[in-house]
Amino acid sequence: MRHKFGYLPQKYNFSLNPYPEIRFSKCPDCQNKTGQRKLPLLIHVDPKNLIALNYTNRYCNRCDMLIAHKDEIEHLLTDMFLQINPEYIGNNYLVFATVEKKAWSENMKNPKPFDEMLHHIHDFKSYQDIRMTMGGWFQNGQIPPVMEPAPSKEWVKK
Ligand SMILES: [Zn+2]
Repeated sequence: MRHKFGYLPQKYNFSLNPYPEIRFSKCPDCQNKTGQRKLPLLIHVDPKNLIALNYTNRYCNRCDMLIAHKDEIEHLLTDMFLQINPEYIGNNYLVFATVEKKAWSENMKNPKPFDEMLHHIHDFKSYQDIRMTMGGWFQNGQIPPVMEPAPSKEWVKK
């Protein structure tokens, strides 16, 4: 685990879903029915951009896990970077924390110094990229292959 960034206790396990056709109305880990949780996600985009995206995540309360759909995240990031810095579109990025809602909305109206924002950030407890194995029938002893994640459509270098 890397160095902790925000000052608040770590919160949420986070999963990034790379399959546009799977929406996880059930949790991939425990099969519990998921709900929704709208939260500002904090994203680092190479080389040095911090972006807070208010995003409706899937949420499993049994696993305390947020699930974000990669295609939606990349769509929102692309829209945002078209306006601020198009040459960064397609760069590596990492979703790594949530921002407290109240601090986030106050910061939108009235931007706060970076140091102050650190007091309102929860790093994730864990991070995973979801990988599913193929459904269907397989011969005895055959291991189902991993489903190939969809390539990025919008968040790509032009
Ligand atoms: Zn779960």
